[in-house]
Amino acid sequence: MSGAGRFAPSPSGDLHLGNLRTAVLAWLFARSTDRRFLLRVEDLDRVRPGAETRQLDDLAALGLDWDGPVVHQSQRIALYENAIARLAAQGRTYECYCTRREILEAASAPHAPAGAYPGTCRTLTDEQREQRRATGRRPATRLSALVDTFTVHDVLRGDYTGIVDDVVLRRGDGVPAYNLAVVVDDAAQGVDQVVRGDDLLGSAPRQAYLASLLDLAVPTYAHVPLALNAERKRLAKRDGAVTLADQVALGHSPAQVLSRLARSLGLARAGETVDLPLLLDRFDPATLPRTPWVFARPGR
Ligand code: GLU
Repeated sequence: MSGAGRFAPSPSGDLHLGNLRTAVLAWLFARSTDRRFLLRVEDLDRVRPGAETRQLDDLAALGLDWDGPVVHQSQRIALYENAIARLAAQGRTYECYCTRREILEAASAPHAPAGAYPGTCRTLTDEQREQRRATGRRPATRLSALVDTFTVHDVLRGDYTGIVDDVVLRRGDGVPAYNLAVVVDDAAQGVDQVVRGDDLLGSAPRQAYLASLLDLAVPTYAHVPLALNAERKRLAKRDGAVTLADQVALGHSPAQVLSRLARSLGLARAGETVDLPLLLDRFDPATLPRTPWVFARPGR
């Protein structure tokens, strides 16, 4: 087997049906292309006790399997620091003292590209930097990007060009930032196929650019449509019975939940119960729905 795909949940709560659907897709993409399938717990941020175990149990209950041990980002800080040091050695980092509020204000200025950090701290003089240091605020470390945009290829979306700004590499609290960690991990783990929710499509150009600066291979992307609630907003816990445990409590077996997910992907017929080997047989990225899955509770 060459290459690997992965699923990389953040253990901040239970996976909902949209997350489980993405996990099934990531597994199908990997297995149908003879790749390994890896699980990585992205626990640099908010961790809810018990969430990881429930997430892994839910994935296994749907029949997903993965290769090798589950990797935890919190155990890999040295790798991320090493990458930051390499970028620093290229002169591609700077300290940023901006508060969230300052960034929002600057980013809403006329002509600022939407959602991009405007580079306020990039051009601080030594004196200005000393003044900010003297306030005792701990700086974030940002990338000093040489481009404004970058193009990635997405299996479902084609070529996608998006903003690259001076992304945070290490947060003010000293924790490596998601955009850096994900790039370092995917490369270190041999991940060459990234399948995830299309809410992250906008981050892919930044991540691919970072990979290129670090001389790392850029993976193939497939950003899959999200699950939405009846109001067409992103599915969330408050939408009711959206976790596997909720569904089981309503009397639906994991196999029935998998079948419902498969139906939403056009891989099963109404009333049909399917398993993963059958889905693998039927899976064809070309036929996947390109629009969000609207999950409405039956009887509503
Ligand atoms: N940990 C991220 C999330 O749960 C996914 C990151 C990724 O797939 O690149 O939203």
